[in-house]
Amino acid sequence: MDYEIVIGLEIHSELDTNSKIFCGCSTTFGAEENTQTCPVCLGLPGTLPVLNKKVVEYAVRAGIAMDCKIANFSKLDRKNYFYPDLPKAYQISQFDLPICQRGDVEIEVGDYKKTIGITRIHIEEDAGKLIHDSGEGTLADNNRCGVPLIEIVTEPDMRSAAEARTFAEKIKSILEYTEVSDCKMQEGSLRFDVNLSVRKNGTKELGTRTEMKNLNSFRALERAVEAESRRQIFELERGNRIIQETRKWDDDNGESFSLRSKEEAHDYRYFPDPDLVPIVLENSYIKEIEDHLPKLPWVRKKDYMEKWNLSEYDADVLTVSKDTASFFEKTVEACGDPKSVVNWIMGDISAALNEQNISMKDVKFSPGDLGELIGLINKKAISVSIGKQVLKQMMETGESPSKIVEKSGLSQMNDEDELKKIVLTVLEKNPQSVEDLKNGKEKAIGFLVGQIMKETKGKANPQVVNKLIKDNI
Ligand code: ADP
Ligand code: MG
Ligand code: ZN
Repeated sequence: MDYEIVIGLEIHSELDTNSKIFCGCSTTFGAEENTQTCPVCLGLPGTLPVLNKKVVEYAVRAGIAMDCKIANFSKLDRKNYFYPDLPKAYQISQFDLPICQRGDVEIEVGDYKKTIGITRIHIEEDAGKLIHDSGEGTLADNNRCGVPLIEIVTEPDMRSAAEARTFAEKIKSILEYTEVSDCKMQEGSLRFDVNLSVRKNGTKELGTRTEMKNLNSFRALERAVEAESRRQIFELERGNRIIQETRKWDDDNGESFSLRSKEEAHDYRYFPDPDLVPIVLENSYIKEIEDHLPKLPWVRKKDYMEKWNLSEYDADVLTVSKDTASFFEKTVEACGDPKSVVNWIMGDISAALNEQNISMKDVKFSPGDLGELIGLINKKAISVSIGKQVLKQMMETGESPSKIVEKSGLSQMNDEDELKKIVLTVLEKNPQSVEDLKNGKEKAIGFLVGQIMKETKGKANPQVVNKLIKDNI
């Protein structure tokens, strides 16, 4: 019997604000435990939260980029539960009136496109972190209490691990482009909860779902979907029921286990937070944010194809990450030669990044430097192969290409008189090749050029060398 997999995601993303959502504490990751707290984010009695307006702005930006309806009126609610990393014993979140609703995000999976519905985006505060492996029992670090989050909830619109992964990657790219979140998954800035059910093909009704919380890599997300759908199908095939429950995904062992069933779920007793006024947004405010939204990946991709004639593939690769896209654009601005910039970024630079396991934002040189390198090649001050050597040094030292060329004496040799001497010597040393060439064996010229390049350490201008050989045989 064939089954269809049904997936809805809940995505938590930490916003890239400097301060927390209801107080002035820093949000910097990795600070010493409990040094970034105050009475407000520790939830001490008598303190009052004040909403950080950047949080609203960032949520609205994300909402616009995901084609949501932005609410003119929304409010903050208390979600009550006790947990050791939540000193207030309630989390300020949004319940029935979230800041964004009913959005759409288009994904491209293999050779088809499809739209995933966004149910809602709401703002809320993060909880602290429990540290279980200190050797001193369980410790609580409250630095993360009150770090602003958005939670993005989707419709149950995804049908495979590939769709879920592609969608998750798309969300990451949107949040990066709009500068809403740094999306550092290893720091917990982007976390996925997977809701999953299966149903027999052709059935309309949704099956009973399970939820796996806090997946923090695309690979884990994909693997969790595959394993959980297999497990559910296996259970159903044996005549068992799926229990609605929260499961924990263990990525090391590639399996999930039950944490708690829905029957034991909390009744959060949501109610409007009496300490905070509702969020009222004028249309003019929303329009202002929309007008200043950074260019989104799909807009840039179209631009690259139309303005600069890039292939769809190249445009796709260059716009996956915002860092790469802006590096690309700035370099084109610097040298005016998009074709060469594509070749360098997709070729030598990306190979070097892969090899060193770093990303575009870690490179030591600037787009201006790469533009300069391309300029040197275009005006024939250096050859392409010398350019490759220069790039290597730029990656290592961050020095400008002209400085490297000057320092290492790598300038291209264009001077005919100087080159002629070398050409004559090489011709003299290789009478057989000269003979072959005279007899029309064009291959011989390649060998001769190679010898001259060897003599000049790759600095000879190949066009000049070719001409000199032909003139002197
Ligand atoms: P809850 O209130 O328990 O969090 P929601 O109705 O808000 O539940 O849904 C949470 C997520 O689960 C959403 O992304 C939704 O699309 C998804 N979802 C709901 N029902 C199913 C189902 N039967 N199968 C798969 N996903 C589902
Ligand atoms: Mg939920
Ligand atoms: Zn604080």
